[in-house]
Amino acid sequence: MIFEFFHVKHVGCVRFVCAACNNSPMNHPATQTLLSELTTLLGCDQVLSEGDLSSWEQDWRKRCNGRALAVVRPGCTEEVAGVVRVCSRLRAQHPECGLSIVPQGGNTGLVVGSTPDESGQQIVLSLQRMNSVREVDVENLTLTAEAGCILQSIQDRALALGFLFPLSLAAEGSCTIGGNLGTNAGGTQVLRFGSTRDLCLGLEVVTAQGDIWHGLSGLRKDNTGYDLRNLFIGSEGTLGVITAATLKLYPLPAAQLCAWAAVPSLEAAVTLLGLAHRCLGAGLTGFELMGQFALHLVDKHLTRLRVPLFRSAPFCVLLEYSDDESEEHAGHRLEHLLVLAQEQSCMTDAIVASSLTQARQLWHVRESIPLAQAQEGQNIKHDISVPVSGVAEFVRVTDALIEAAIPGVQMVNFGHLGDGNLHYNVQAPASMDAALFLRDHEDLVHRIVFDSVHAFGGSISAEHGVGSLKTDDLTRYKSPVALHMMGAIKQALDPQNLMNPGRVVKLPR
Ligand SMILES: Cc1cc2nc3c(=O)[nH]c(=O)nc-3n(C[C@H](O)[C@H](O)[C@H](O)COP(=O)(O)OP(=O)(O)OC[C@H]3O[C@@H](n4cnc5c(N)ncnc54)[C@H](O)[C@@H]3O)c2cc1C
Repeated sequence: MIFEFFHVKHVGCVRFVCAACNNSPMNHPATQTLLSELTTLLGCDQVLSEGDLSSWEQDWRKRCNGRALAVVRPGCTEEVAGVVRVCSRLRAQHPECGLSIVPQGGNTGLVVGSTPDESGQQIVLSLQRMNSVREVDVENLTLTAEAGCILQSIQDRALALGFLFPLSLAAEGSCTIGGNLGTNAGGTQVLRFGSTRDLCLGLEVVTAQGDIWHGLSGLRKDNTGYDLRNLFIGSEGTLGVITAATLKLYPLPAAQLCAWAAVPSLEAAVTLLGLAHRCLGAGLTGFELMGQFALHLVDKHLTRLRVPLFRSAPFCVLLEYSDDESEEHAGHRLEHLLVLAQEQSCMTDAIVASSLTQARQLWHVRESIPLAQAQEGQNIKHDISVPVSGVAEFVRVTDALIEAAIPGVQMVNFGHLGDGNLHYNVQAPASMDAALFLRDHEDLVHRIVFDSVHAFGGSISAEHGVGSLKTDDLTRYKSPVALHMMGAIKQALDPQNLMNPGRVVKLPR
């Protein structure tokens, strides 16, 4: 057999292709065996290899179009294990076929981690059919859900039982808890409740060998060796397939209030955050920052939304307070904070939502920023974090560097200021075509922003993960010791490189 190299552009990896099967994975003898065995295992309705597979093959931002060998949709953990075992065996027998597995939940990820590459050698393993809540333990305050449960359905289930499941993000109507765990998703409540990993007590995982790890513990204390759960959380499908999780529930607050404040500067927003921490304690459950240009885009493109207070302030803040006593008590504490903030000049104006509907409308404005910027045209995106104390200086320094390199750029700046996490996006100058701006300047802008993040001791990916978009950047900014340990973990748990290769850590295929 003759093997030759070819490059897969968007993941930048090099791989062997068997010339004997005419460079088409579909012609490889292993493929027919694979499809036939998977069909026997799952039934022909759940193994899709023909027709329109684009909803599984294209990423959410429509930046990459992959090609799947097949999309498989197991309905239970044993079937997931069966799929992985078949793939692992065929991969061992035919290493040249390059067969690998891409786990997929809601496919809302933003770093191209859940779609296949262009090789046609990867199967998409969709968890969508595994969407049951297996158990609720109200005394232990836990809920055990299968990986394909939509996040919103878990929130709703918790609410119906009188509890809160606090993970919340704009994609919650489509993303799955498996994907949230796979990416260690953040969202708007991290400030109080932490990221997804902080909300998870146990996992059930199918390993890269097709074994089932029954780690669905509801224990809050368990110091019996390495933390395997936290190894799989945030591994973006590169170490195994999460099939179920035991999640933490919280009591519902007695009252929840939102305020929208205009602030005179980013420094003032950080001062207001400190004040809010001191005045509201653990009741401060959200603190979102929105730059004036980001809000201008919402006002321009989503005309039925009313965007408050943004015309005269460079930044606005959306602040959420949850109170365990009563609405009246909540109102007093929030009012006290706002009075102090005005006295200390870290806020120029504010409105307080007087009903749940008004609070939802304010959150809706914040969550509509990604849509509004998409309607304005593509821009260069970053999901970065720096220590809260360095946010204002980071933005000042980095804005200046970008403006010097490309005069006239417009900054779409918003994010979870309470976590030091900014979606620091760069829009083309008004006179420049957005697509040309991306083509000509994306690499340069990424380099400026990431170098600056690095200098400020920050992270180049605060909550979206690495996927295939940021693997090269990771190599540049992560320490060699950290990269070596990550590679060793991947090698130990998935020596065949079967699980989502080319994502997070790069090993030869
Ligand atoms: C409008 C919008 C707003 C967003 N806001 C936020 C936000 O505020 N915070 C945030 O963190 N993210 C945000 N995201 C990104 C995205 O929603 C999250 O990354 C989410 O957790 C992905 O879930 P998913 O089910 O769609 O996963 P997918 O996109 O399907 O997969 C994401 C990654 O997880 C892996 N994976 C999926 N399921 C499993 C599994 N069962 N086992 C192992 N690996 C798995 C995939 O292989 C892939 O690498 C946003 C996205 C959109 C579109």
